[in-house]
Amino acid sequence: MDEIAQSIFPKKFSDPHITATGEPRASVSFRGLEMLWLNTGTLCNLTCAHCYIESSPRNDRLAYLTRGDVQACLAEIKSRNLPTHEIGVTGGEPFMNPDIMAILSDCLAQGFRLLVLTNAMKPMWQHRDELLALKRQYHEKGGGNGAKLVFRVSLDHYTVEGHEQERGPGSWVVALQGVDWLLSHGFAVHIAGRTFTEESEEVIRAGFAGLFAAQSWDLQAHDPHDLLLFPEMDETRPVAEITTSCWKILGVSPSEMMCATSRMVVRRRGAKNISVVACTLMPYAPAFDLGTDLRSAEMEVALNHPHCARFCVLGGGTCSG
Ligand code: SF4
Repeated sequence: MDEIAQSIFPKKFSDPHITATGEPRASVSFRGLEMLWLNTGTLCNLTCAHCYIESSPRNDRLAYLTRGDVQACLAEIKSRNLPTHEIGVTGGEPFMNPDIMAILSDCLAQGFRLLVLTNAMKPMWQHRDELLALKRQYHEKGGGNGAKLVFRVSLDHYTVEGHEQERGPGSWVVALQGVDWLLSHGFAVHIAGRTFTEESEEVIRAGFAGLFAAQSWDLQAHDPHDLLLFPEMDETRPVAEITTSCWKILGVSPSEMMCATSRMVVRRRGAKNISVVACTLMPYAPAFDLGTDLRSAEMEVALNHPHCARFCVLGGGTCSG
């Protein structure tokens, strides 16, 4: 567990095998690498109020992943014939990484579906010509669900006030221009919103529907593919630990967890090697740092962190103390 969670829950989330109440802790077996996430580095052009990975123009705790780092992973996928069909690219802001276009091109050249998370602001804008060239080369005509290259753009709220409360002044109009540009050039785009307000999901989706209509974006706010809504990642709120009996009680399967079928590659500042971590939610927690190549990270993961409980398993339910 990381330092924040450890200081807040001194008894919980300590032993990887046993919970604070002495029950066997749940774990997730690895079923094969279906999706590989690349964290391109934590530097970002924005400092969002509640960024779970604390990205900012100064935070380089996760350094830029290099083209060589990615090529080594792609080579391992190929040589070991891993079942990987999708690569996810996240940051920070991926378009700050100097190797980003080469990384995207290498992934597409090897036939992977590519999901790129971005704020669609200036760093992406500076790569417009290269993105169009990439699209001409690899993007399946017409975009949509079959598109090989998909952008997930963060719009935290459907209003300028809500969005800029999180992302800072001046972040709204530029992001809308970025989405306009992507859609008008036929790129496949999904929007990632947040649920940090007290509004119900229905109200938030209706608000986004109004935004999409006003912008003439061909996106469906009630379609969870077109509009994903993410909960807040507050490590300080109390949460139950997950025991082995939780799966049955909650009707949730371990195989549905992200760490059953994916991993994320990061490059820690100053590190000699890349690290392969259990999932995108665990960039810093040492216990979830599984190795320096994909093979070494093919292991069972103990659900020994508040995020495992709150975001992956419980979904609002309770099954232990
Ligand atoms: S937060 Fe925990 S349960 Fe969820 S994917 Fe990551 S390691 Fe697995």
